[in-house]
Amino acid sequence: MGGIYIHIPFCKRKCSYCDFYSVAAKSDSMERYVKAVIDEAEMRIGELGGAEIKTMYVGGGTPSLLSAEQLSQLIGGVRGQLTTDAVQEMTIEVNPDDITDEYALMLHKIGFNRVSMGVQSFNDDELQFINRRHTAQQATDAVNRLRAAGFDNISIDLIYGIPKQTQQTWRESVNQAIALDVQHISCYCLSYEEGTRLYMMRKLGKITECSDEECVAMYSTLVELLKKAGYEHYEISNFAKAGKRSMHNSNYWNFTPYLGLGAAAHSYDGKNRRYNPSNIKEYAEKIGSGATAYTTESEEDWQRYNELVMIRLRTTEGLEAKSIERKFGQDLYRYFVKNAERHVNAGNLSKNDGHYRLSEAGVMLADMVIRDVIYVE
Ligand code: SF4
Repeated sequence: MGGIYIHIPFCKRKCSYCDFYSVAAKSDSMERYVKAVIDEAEMRIGELGGAEIKTMYVGGGTPSLLSAEQLSQLIGGVRGQLTTDAVQEMTIEVNPDDITDEYALMLHKIGFNRVSMGVQSFNDDELQFINRRHTAQQATDAVNRLRAAGFDNISIDLIYGIPKQTQQTWRESVNQAIALDVQHISCYCLSYEEGTRLYMMRKLGKITECSDEECVAMYSTLVELLKKAGYEHYEISNFAKAGKRSMHNSNYWNFTPYLGLGAAAHSYDGKNRRYNPSNIKEYAEKIGSGATAYTTESEEDWQRYNELVMIRLRTTEGLEAKSIERKFGQDLYRYFVKNAERHVNAGNLSKNDGHYRLSEAGVMLADMVIRDVIYVE
């Protein structure tokens, strides 16, 4: 089993918190880019060793800036490389103001059966503050249009901890997401990444960030409201209605191999991680010359151990301690158990059937718990 991720690194404008690689969207460069991605798929599809592809995810950037022709060329070109077509979940990330009735119908027709939309907030002042290009009403309209086009698996992203956001406005955003009856919600705490406009504003003293206490209170509200509304809290930042977990992301968290295509995309073949350059020009030149563009990073056991611990402890299923012994041997297994047991005693982790999981209290302290069990050379 495997997955394909396709990165579309184009945006109309930069959100103030975003440090993802993206460049200004221009139609002719998007056209050339689509062709390069199809060429890359042709070169690299064999890396998954003939595994059946169950999920495809087109992320960005803003994939919904691609025209109908570009998208169908891209999907047709990549799917055309598969020996058998067993794709069950096909997701595209979209921006609310790109979703017209026609665009929604076109996405459905091409074969997407899941849409992930960056909404971030249902409060216009907050949206403006983080430089999003849509309004709250446009986000609501986009959900309704997607549903009318036949989508029954819609995910939205929300952000908490925005300066000047209040417990009340956050509660209203979460309630609006619930009222829209979307199947999946991902929520992230606003972070200040170096190089972003937000980071600079904080540095210059122009904004005051939300305190840890305020962020914890917002997260608690989120968990309480979504649980009450019937969402399963299956990963620290992810909530889903029954049967609507993200298959693609769940596969990442289970370390299923995937092929990442496009500039800035990563791949994992079960052993090694490969990284395409975060530079469209460099990427396209390499692919155009008939060569692959990635660099391979080999990881040591302790780095793989850290990844396993960080990812699995964020999930509801938690981490099976014996899997550490099987993968990395006795030393790292003992190291984990010794450090995890302290958090079991403190009530931050629970232990059942050999699986360690964050407790309700531990979820709020996840960063600290994870810091204590990872290995630093
Ligand atoms: S639309 Fe997404 S990728 Fe583009 S700048 Fe905003 S957050 Fe970043």
